[in-house]
Amino acid sequence: MEIGKIIKVSGPLVMAENMGHASIQDMCYVGDLGVIGEIIEMRGDVASIQVYEETTGIGPGEPVRSTGEALSVELAPGIVSQMFDGIQRPLDQFILQTNSNFLGRGVQLPALDHEKKWQFEAVANVGDSVTSGDIIGVVQETEVIQHKILVPNGVSGQLKAVTSGEFTIDEVVYTVTTADGDKDFTMLQKWPVRRPRPVKEKLNPDAPMITGQRVIDTFFPVTKGGAAAVPGPFGAGKTVVQHQIAKWADVDLVVYVGCGERGNEMTDVMNEFPELIDPNTGKSLMQRTILIANTSNMPVAAREASIYTGITIAEYFRDMGYSVAIMADSTSRWAEALREMSGRLEEMPGDEGYPAYLGSRLAEYYERAGKVITLGHEGRGGSITAISAVSPSGGDMSEPVTQNTQRVVKVFWGLDSTLAQQRHFPSIDWLQSYSLYATEVGQYMDQQMQVDWSALVTEGMRMLQKESELQEIVRLVGIDSLSEKDQLLLEVTKSIREDYLQQNAFDDVDTFTSREKQFAMLHNILTFGSEAMRALDLGSYLREIMTGTVALRDKIARMKYVPEENLPAIKELEQEIKSTIKNIIQKGGMTND
Ligand code: ADP
Ligand code: MG
Repeated sequence: MEIGKIIKVSGPLVMAENMGHASIQDMCYVGDLGVIGEIIEMRGDVASIQVYEETTGIGPGEPVRSTGEALSVELAPGIVSQMFDGIQRPLDQFILQTNSNFLGRGVQLPALDHEKKWQFEAVANVGDSVTSGDIIGVVQETEVIQHKILVPNGVSGQLKAVTSGEFTIDEVVYTVTTADGDKDFTMLQKWPVRRPRPVKEKLNPDAPMITGQRVIDTFFPVTKGGAAAVPGPFGAGKTVVQHQIAKWADVDLVVYVGCGERGNEMTDVMNEFPELIDPNTGKSLMQRTILIANTSNMPVAAREASIYTGITIAEYFRDMGYSVAIMADSTSRWAEALREMSGRLEEMPGDEGYPAYLGSRLAEYYERAGKVITLGHEGRGGSITAISAVSPSGGDMSEPVTQNTQRVVKVFWGLDSTLAQQRHFPSIDWLQSYSLYATEVGQYMDQQMQVDWSALVTEGMRMLQKESELQEIVRLVGIDSLSEKDQLLLEVTKSIREDYLQQNAFDDVDTFTSREKQFAMLHNILTFGSEAMRALDLGSYLREIMTGTVALRDKIARMKYVPEENLPAIKELEQEIKSTIKNIIQKGGMTND
C-alpha cells in the first residue's frame, strides 16, 4: 500500500503529499498515532485532510495511510440507547463525566459491540425473491425498538438460506442467490455518512408530530417528515425546547446530536432519560434514544461530521419503517467548524467568513429529512423530522446560518430574549414564528379529533395579534382609552399567554400536554372570552365580570397542572364558565358603581 507523508499540520487540518492513490472523502489514518481523518480536498498528489482528533505532536514527515473507504457508520443491532461521538466511536457516561472525552488518540474502537449475541428471528422464507430494503428478519433490540434486518442497497436475488438463532453482527445469517452468484450476509451494514440513503419515493408530510408543547402543537406545528429551526440567543431556551421534543415527541426513535454545546447538557440527558417514562410506550425514554455527542470540549472537526453521522443513523431506522426525529444542538456550532476548516484551506470566504457552500450544505442536510416510501417490496412508510437549534450571535437573525436555514425549513420557532427575561417559557415569539404546515395540520386535527381545532387556533392567534395592536395604543394613550370590549380582549390574551403559551418544562404535569388536553384548555379560555363578550353585549360591566369570575379564572389558570387522567375535570369547567357568567348577566347592572 502506498503511504503518504505529512508536509504541514494546521490545527485540525493536515496536508500530506504522495497521496495520488487516494481520493476525496477517503478516510485516512494520520501520523504515527494513526488518528482518524477524512480527505476534503485533493490538489495533484497533495491531500488536505480534516482530522477528527487532536493533532498536537503530529508533525511533518509522519505517514498517512488512506483506507480507500469513505467515512462510514456501522449499522446493526446495538445502536439504540448508545452514546457515540461525531464519528460513531462509543462514548460512555464515565468518559463524559470524567471530562476526558478523548478516547485516547488513535484508538480504533469499533462503533458497535461485535461480541454480543442477538436473537435473530427470520421473517423472510427461503425461495423468496428479495431486493434492497426487504426485511429478512428482526431483532428485539430494546423493549420498544424492533430492529429490522434489511437487504442492503444494490442487492437483489432469491433468498437461498436464512437461519433464526443467536448471532453476533459479524456472523452470517442469510444467503442470497444474485446474478453474480451466492452472497452471504451478516446483520451489519456500513453506509458512508455523506451520502443520503436512497428511498423509493418522497411524500408530502401532512401528519403532525405531537410534541406535547402547547405553543408548538397548537400554533406552530411541525409534521412527521418536516423540518424546523429554533433560533435564539444564549439562554433563550433552545436546548430546553430540543430536550422537550426529544422527551415527548410521538415518534418511534430520537437521534439527539449535541454539537459544539456544553458537555454537561449531554450528561444531563444521559442521567435523566433512563428515568423518564415515554407516555407512548410506558418504557424508559432511553430505549428509543440515540445520542451523538461532540460537545464544545471535543475536537472541532468531528463536530462537522456529527450531524451526518446522526442523520445517517436516522435514515437507517426510517428505512425500517419508523418515524424518527433528529435534533441538532446547535447547527451554528456546526457551521463554525465548517468555517474554521474553510479558513484553513484558504478558500474564498463568503458572508461573515462562512464558505460560499454553507447554504447548499445546510439544504442538503435538511433534504435528508422527509416522509418517504422506503425501498423494498413492502412499500413501507417512514419519516425523519429534523429539528435544529440555531444560535445567532447577539440574536441577530440576519446572520448567514439563520438566513440559510430559514430558506429551507418550513417551521420557524423564533425565541425571544425579552420573553425569556420575563420568564415566559418557552420563549417562542408568537408574532415572529410560523409554520407553513399549519393549514394542513389544522385540517388533519379537525378530522382526527372530530372537533373544530383549526377554528379555535385561528381565533386564538387573531386575538394575540389584536393584542399587540392594542398594546401599542395603550402605550401611547393609556388603558382607559380602550373600550371595555378591548380591555376584555386584553384579559383574555393575558390568559392565553400565561395559562396556555407558558409551559414549565420542569413541572411533572405541565411538561407535556396531550392534544386532547390542549384543545380543552384553549377551548375553555376562549369560551370564557366569548361568554364574557356576550355579557358585555347584554349590559354587564367589565369590572363586574372580572370580580365575579376570580375563582373561575383561578381554575382556568390551574388547568395546566391538572394531570392528563383528570381531563374530564377540565372539560367540565366549560359548564362552570358558562353558568358563572350567566349568573353575572342575570344580576345585570345591580353592582354598577
Ligand atoms: P439556550 O440553549 O438557548 O442557551 P437553555 O435551553 O439552556 O437556553 O435555557 C436556559 C434556561 O432557561 C434554562 O436553564 C431554564 O432555566 C430556562 N428555561 C428555558 N425553557 C424553559 C421552559 N420551557 N420551562 C422552564 N424553564 C425554561
Ligand atoms: Mg443551549
